[in-house]
Amino acid sequence: MRSTPWILLLLTTAVFAQPPQTREIVRITDDLYRARAGNWYTIFLVTDAGIILADPISTEFSQWLAGEIDRRFDVPVRYVIYSHSHFDHARGGAVFADTATFIGHENMLRNMDGRYPQMPGDMIDRDHNGVIDWDDIMVPTQAHPGICGWGPSFFDIFDRDGDARVSPQELFAEVRKPDVVFADHMQITLGDKTVWLAHPGRNHSDDATVILFPEERVLFATEFLADALVTDNIRALPSACGPFDGTPLQEWIASYRFVEALDFDRIAPGHGDMFDKAYVTETRVYFERLTAAVSAGMARGESLQSLRDNLQLTGYEGWANYERLRGNNIEAAYYNLSQR
Ligand SMILES: [Zn+2]
Repeated sequence: MRSTPWILLLLTTAVFAQPPQTREIVRITDDLYRARAGNWYTIFLVTDAGIILADPISTEFSQWLAGEIDRRFDVPVRYVIYSHSHFDHARGGAVFADTATFIGHENMLRNMDGRYPQMPGDMIDRDHNGVIDWDDIMVPTQAHPGICGWGPSFFDIFDRDGDARVSPQELFAEVRKPDVVFADHMQITLGDKTVWLAHPGRNHSDDATVILFPEERVLFATEFLADALVTDNIRALPSACGPFDGTPLQEWIASYRFVEALDFDRIAPGHGDMFDKAYVTETRVYFERLTAAVSAGMARGESLQSLRDNLQLTGYEGWANYERLRGNNIEAAYYNLSQR
């Protein structure tokens, strides 16, 4: 029967599809909304001249979101602002390309220029061949399942020609390049609303943008304040993959201080529930104490194994994922500090 291949194709697609995600739009305040795809979140502000949207997240999600926006608000999406270039937040923008201008930090252009990009979860070019191989994804995935790397579905999603390698072009095939980039900060005015974009420095990524909604006193930021493991408890140990994503710990700490200096009340993160600004300070202090404790151990000549076995992160036993991630955090800090 001629239809058999189509049935097979449908079955194959179903097997490779992501698990069903909770999708919803929740009003934060006034004209500011959060939109949700499972534990991935974006944000948008409605003005009388159009919508300012953050991450598109994925093509499927953006198609759903575009339909909801059409139905609920009678204005087009005028801006899409990327929180960073990573594939799990930045895909899908083409859905809004007819009406929107795309904005990101200038380092997004470097990450999208065909060279091996900066990626999350210790996914790095292990054999220096410029393409994303099985080992690049599966070494961190198998070392820290559910924490680092991504899993075999990475190749199902991105390996479009099925050669078990992902070129940077394949990785970014669904990411629309920013039309406008900035270095430090920029302001966008649309209708009667103004939002402020800023680069907090390097941390989880090297091309982050945080979005400040001054009237609403809300900040949108992804990953470095609350990573993909965070759901309902912001007091959580970070995933800590590789040497903390290759960014010096002092730069992580500086990016927390940058956010602490901004004037707002609540954070709408890219993962997990919204939280108060005070938690940013708590997490920065955690990074400082971790850095100090591991530095002191190294100065005493302690081995990584000894630090992993013996160093307790006193005061943080009640934080989410303490048992699961204490060793990872110590190891990541050790590698990070060893590189300096
Ligand atoms: Zn990321």
